[in-house]
Amino acid sequence: MKYSWRVGRIVGIEIRIDSSWFVILILFTWSLASSYFPERFPDWPPFQHWLIGLMTSLLIFASVLIHELSHSIVAIAQGEKVKSITLFILGGVAQISEEPKQPVQEFFMALVGPLTSFAIGVVAFVLSFFLKGMSEPLGAVVSYLAMINIILAVFNLLPGFPMDGGRVLRSIIWKVTGDLRKATQIASRVGQGFAFFLIFVGILQILGGSLSGFWLVFVGWFLHSAAVRGYQQVMVESLLKGVSASELMTKDFHAVPSTLLVQDLVDAYILRQKERVFLVQDEGVLKGIVCLEDVKTVPREKWAETFVAEIMTPRDKLEAVSLDSDGSAILNSLTTKEIHQVPVMDGDRVAGIICRTDILRFIQLRKDLGA
Ligand SMILES: [Zn+2]
Repeated sequence: MKYSWRVGRIVGIEIRIDSSWFVILILFTWSLASSYFPERFPDWPPFQHWLIGLMTSLLIFASVLIHELSHSIVAIAQGEKVKSITLFILGGVAQISEEPKQPVQEFFMALVGPLTSFAIGVVAFVLSFFLKGMSEPLGAVVSYLAMINIILAVFNLLPGFPMDGGRVLRSIIWKVTGDLRKATQIASRVGQGFAFFLIFVGILQILGGSLSGFWLVFVGWFLHSAAVRGYQQVMVESLLKGVSASELMTKDFHAVPSTLLVQDLVDAYILRQKERVFLVQDEGVLKGIVCLEDVKTVPREKWAETFVAEIMTPRDKLEAVSLDSDGSAILNSLTTKEIHQVPVMDGDRVAGIICRTDILRFIQLRKDLGA
């Protein structure tokens, strides 16, 4: 599910569609066209069930998009940057560059989404009364849309993280206690509890012979992992707060040539000298960096035929940081750019190297020590 396509741009925000979105579009259209509309409007010809089903599905996704846009617009109004909105199998997600800095900011950013869905629902509900008299299919589409948007609003208001209601809850606890980590922990626990409830109901449904229970289990599992991830992210950020690059970096490192075989790197350097990170240099010119993590990406039987040059993070992909760069910002950039290491520069000199595992180890240590 890694592929997504850019479909346009609204108020400067890139709109993307993930490949998984097509699955839900087909499922939705199919369930509307094969059971929902035929049960209520048996006189319609089948192609009309499908056409109206497809139209309804697309309008639902337009509603989801408007919901996400409302979050984004409030975020932008509060000075955040919004890169993109991606529609995927479970709705939409807006890529807002940073976590909110203030509880009040988060409160409004989260609340506007359900309010928007609720407003769309009410407008569609009123509209359906006028449309019913004019056109039966249009009336059917719009009243279904009304129902779905109200359900979306209510579901999103549930007070468990990562739902909007969970963010609202977090912002309130954050405001009262002044402790973002604690607030996230509570909202995340409620979210996990709710996710387990969904999984439980889903399993009951499956045992009762209803296959739609799988869907609930899937949604519950997704919400659970998002709730856990949300808390971990905040915890990691709080553990790395005020930690600079100079505290995280490895200062002892050797230079190896890019033409070295991975097997020789392992035998001569990693095993013998117990080192984990190396500058890759050819005749004094920096070519890249290679870490133990890079070695792990190659299967052992390929070590004797793979060169360091093939597994290193090349120089043009390296994002140099300075000695006083912030730890959580470095981890963030390693994660989003999918690289394993950064060089720490002291002027023109490479003063140290930070691998992702160095940061993770540091976090683990702090956690173990109860810091
Ligand atoms: Zn939302």
